[in-house]
Amino acid sequence: MPEIRLENVSKRYTAEGRTQYAVRELNLTVEQGEFVFLIGSSGAGKSTLLKLIGGEIPPDQGEVYLNGLNVARMIGPWRTRMTRTFGIVNQECLLIRKRTIGDNLLLAAVAAGMRRKGRLAAEKALAIVGLSGVESCYPAELSIGECRRVELARALVNSPPILLLDELTANLDDDNIWDMLHLLNELNSRGTTIIMATHASRYVNIMRRRVITLVDGRLLGDVRNGRYGDIV
Ligand code: ADP
Repeated sequence: MPEIRLENVSKRYTAEGRTQYAVRELNLTVEQGEFVFLIGSSGAGKSTLLKLIGGEIPPDQGEVYLNGLNVARMIGPWRTRMTRTFGIVNQECLLIRKRTIGDNLLLAAVAAGMRRKGRLAAEKALAIVGLSGVESCYPAELSIGECRRVELARALVNSPPILLLDELTANLDDDNIWDMLHLLNELNSRGTTIIMATHASRYVNIMRRRVITLVDGRLLGDVRNGRYGDIV
């Protein structure tokens, strides 16, 4: 089962002639089956870290390994297999507004290599998030909480062993946040690794999982059974 390892990873961006580190000299190992909250203020590097882990962007320095294999060096079928290891929910909604929920999930299933069983996989993923029957709806017809759950279903369509979730609970009310975390707990208890960037401090404190704190792209805290803001 996949283990994620980051060795001395840095990523910098240049904008308007100014270069700054989004992630700096970061070392981290996440074992399969862990549930990790990634916390830090806006701009701390959480999204960049998730993108580095998922191979969406390459590091400028250092290495990201998935099961001992260097992600940046994976090409062709190895790269395809690597990308299918991750179910990703980005901060920006990736649902196509002019397509039904069923089509959105089918497209994700086909992209994940499931041609014949795509429709079935889409139905199964919607059932997992408690939204069976919304296949013919359009994204605009759903509540924000339902939309986020559909996005999670989209990430789950090929049953990936690792979920990378960026602010999945942002803009949700307490009931919806709780439902979502309950769902994630359930998935985690069946072995799925969850790495989740969040500001939902109250829930981080209730869940008592591994809490990784980033400040200015550096890893400031990494605490098992942690609380929001714990450094040691
Ligand atoms: P967080 O998710 O914690 O809010 P980000 O990873 O989005 O933090 O951003 C970390 C830093 O990198 C911020 O200063 C942000 O402005 C910068 N950054 C992120 N993505 C880009 C980009 N594509 N181009 C330029 N700067 C970026």
